[in-house]
Amino acid sequence: MSSNYCRECGTRLVPRELENEGVVPYCPKCEQYRFPQYNVAVSMIVVNEEKDEILLIQQYGRPSYILVAGYVSRGESLEDAVAREVREETGMTVSHMRFNRTQFFEKSDTLMCNFTAFVKDSHELDPNYEIDSYAWFTREEARANIRPNSLAEYFLVSYLDE
Ligand SMILES: [Zn+2]
Repeated sequence: MSSNYCRECGTRLVPRELENEGVVPYCPKCEQYRFPQYNVAVSMIVVNEEKDEILLIQQYGRPSYILVAGYVSRGESLEDAVAREVREETGMTVSHMRFNRTQFFEKSDTLMCNFTAFVKDSHELDPNYEIDSYAWFTREEARANIRPNSLAEYFLVSYLDE
């Protein structure tokens, strides 16, 4: 359902001033403000600390490389989601992580939150069914192989350029 309609009753929302919040969508039938809702996801630059190599993956039958990513569950912290997604998708344990940046992705109505996830033991690597294939890249190889004009590219290049 579009965010132009009340998620409870389906009535068309109207813009209404709310003190200290500005103009917020309002349902005249429920007599409630309806703050916009969206999805939150984490995307990870997975780095093998010993070798300073970056893991990129191929997914959904597409040939180009992207970052490991997944949606954050309701009630879950971003940090927990990073560790869980890396473990679920790659089998590896995140030893520590670093927050990088966020970007809103209109196509899926998702706030993407990018982290660098450092792993010590790449022998644990055991990709699940969601991953078609994967490879470890040096920093410059990763830059050259990440999917062009993607959010993954934006996050990776921003990180490498720091
Ligand atoms: Zn309503």
